[in-house]
Amino acid sequence: MTTQRILIIEDEPEIANYLRRGLVLEGFHVTVAADGPAGLAAAREMPHDLVILDLMLPGIDGLEVARRLRAASDVPIIILTARDAVADRVRGLENGADDYLVKPFAFEELLARIRVQLRRRQASSGSEVLHFGNLTLDTAARELRVGERRVELTAKEYDLLELFMRHPNQVLTREVIYDRVWGYDFGGESNIIEVYVRYLRQKLEAHGEPRVIHTVRGAGYILREE
Ligand code: CA
Repeated sequence: MTTQRILIIEDEPEIANYLRRGLVLEGFHVTVAADGPAGLAAAREMPHDLVILDLMLPGIDGLEVARRLRAASDVPIIILTARDAVADRVRGLENGADDYLVKPFAFEELLARIRVQLRRRQASSGSEVLHFGNLTLDTAARELRVGERRVELTAKEYDLLELFMRHPNQVLTREVIYDRVWGYDFGGESNIIEVYVRYLRQKLEAHGEPRVIHTVRGAGYILREE
């Protein structure tokens, strides 16, 4: 399994560093954003497996950040709040958060909550059918249909397409694709992504179907309909 990425959106440096140190030690890849706009930008820039979101943030309120994150993706969100109020909890969950923790909390408790969310997501993703345009990807059977046509994919072609289909309409950088599909850094010289994108396009467009994997010059690739 590739390294899981956690985004921390927290304006208090001491807490953010405490969380980062602990999560890095647990083997997670951690991104820290100090306010709502930076957090939303980080989420757009790179797909994360989970977001830890402080409720009291400067700029955009944490609840609004949760709402916007949820509008853009199904990433699990754990809210941190200093306010032990039922109303806050309800509002947080209504705005798309999956769980919440009241400060102060023990790191181990947060870690346990994180593991629950990641497991839940993996369990649900195990039997998921992803749809995009005329593509249907059965993630349990690892089977692709383009319209009614069944298409055989190699393991890496499948992994690459699943990554795209889990993040539609989002630019995926070469770095993210290497990291998620190949699991380590190939260095700047490798054209393996280009090669696999070409394979996928050949299979997806074999009967004249419109292109859905587009090159974004200087940035990466995006799955989108014209
Ligand atoms: Ca705060």
